[in-house]
Amino acid sequence: MSVRLDPDNHVWMTAPATRKVLDALTAKGGEVRFVGGVVRNTLAGAGVTDIDLATPLTPDVVIALLEAAGLKAVPTGIEHGTVTAIADSKPFEITTLRRDVSTDGRRAVVSFTGDWREDASRRDFTMNALYASPEGEVFDYFGGIQDLEAGRVRFVGDAASRIAEDYLRILRLFRFHAWYGRGEIDEAALVAAVAGKGGLKTLSGERVQKEMLKLLAAADPIPVLRSMRENGLLREIFPAAIELGRADLKRLGNLVPLTADPILRLTALVLLFSKDAVREAAHMWRLSNNDRDRMLALTGNYAMPESENAAKRQIYEKGAGLYRDQLLLTRAAIPHAVGNWQSFYDLSARWNVPRFPLDGGDVMALGIAQGPRIGELLSAVEHWWIENDFRGTREELLARLKVQASA
Ligand code: ATP
Ligand code: MG
Repeated sequence: MSVRLDPDNHVWMTAPATRKVLDALTAKGGEVRFVGGVVRNTLAGAGVTDIDLATPLTPDVVIALLEAAGLKAVPTGIEHGTVTAIADSKPFEITTLRRDVSTDGRRAVVSFTGDWREDASRRDFTMNALYASPEGEVFDYFGGIQDLEAGRVRFVGDAASRIAEDYLRILRLFRFHAWYGRGEIDEAALVAAVAGKGGLKTLSGERVQKEMLKLLAAADPIPVLRSMRENGLLREIFPAAIELGRADLKRLGNLVPLTADPILRLTALVLLFSKDAVREAAHMWRLSNNDRDRMLALTGNYAMPESENAAKRQIYEKGAGLYRDQLLLTRAAIPHAVGNWQSFYDLSARWNVPRFPLDGGDVMALGIAQGPRIGELLSAVEHWWIENDFRGTREELLARLKVQASA
């Protein structure tokens, strides 16, 4: 039975940016197909983010055709045959059909081919080896549609050999199962993943990060994480000081319904580990400095504010973003002891953070010379203002400042 995606039902197929890229690549009679996630997700009724294309045209021809059509061509992975086209500021990854000539568990040496099936057979899972022509005809070489319908993440070919070619596929197995799988993980795949877990240590931090953050962002990442923990895989990708236990997963489970933010979810998992261990994990996964600092600010730091004033003080001092993150983690860590959590959480949206109305100029106007005393006086009054629930007009605070300065 042949399956078709009706271009009239899927805007991404006919969007002007897509058309520009398709028209450029087919201008001289070349062939091009959508491939991978975009086809899989459309068949699954899930959202489409980026569009990947496959073509027998070689990368130099792809670049020439794109440029002839006035599109930007960036050689993002040229040694693997990938060129990124930019149309209407949207990226399209175009990869020449290829076969992997040699693999060492981390990267492949490739050669180009004109054979679609050969290209399909170097892809990881049957549901990722789906293609669709611009008109919507779907090409399924390994039963990917059936597997997708059954929620079965199955390797193309022998699981153990495919994992030995690239150990990242272990993490991808769990990631795709979390997103598109149903029930148990495919038995052959799981056995091969567990047997190959030693290879995870050889992967670059960037690749681990990308897969794991996507895994953590799944609607419910807990079952696959539990399986990874029970099979000793999690410890392969975290520093030795982070031995994740059942309670850590439980805490993450409590957070999952509250946010899909993968960094916050990761933080929930390692919340009780030392800052040094968290710093090491961030380094192992090559997290950005931003993400690392966000995690460090949150680690070991959960507690409900004791009063509304204490909550306001936190918002004032840390900013609403960090305050909300901290409350979410508190809720995940101690779900039974956070009675008025919601009202504290809502406070960050309801309350307009005031600006302290005085500055150094006001102190100098009292005849105090430049120097550390200016800051001391200002913060003494600011402190009083905060304790006073951020109340007081500028005049009242000036009066207070005068008293303070003459004390
Ligand atoms: P999404 O982008 O929604 O996460 P995707 O299927 O597009 O999903 P990518 O990681 O962007 O996933 O990879 C694009 C396609 O490239 C995959 O669908 C798969 O066919 C192939 N692919 C990517 N990484 C590998 C790998 N390590 N081994 C084999 N094939 C891979
Ligand atoms: Mg993709």
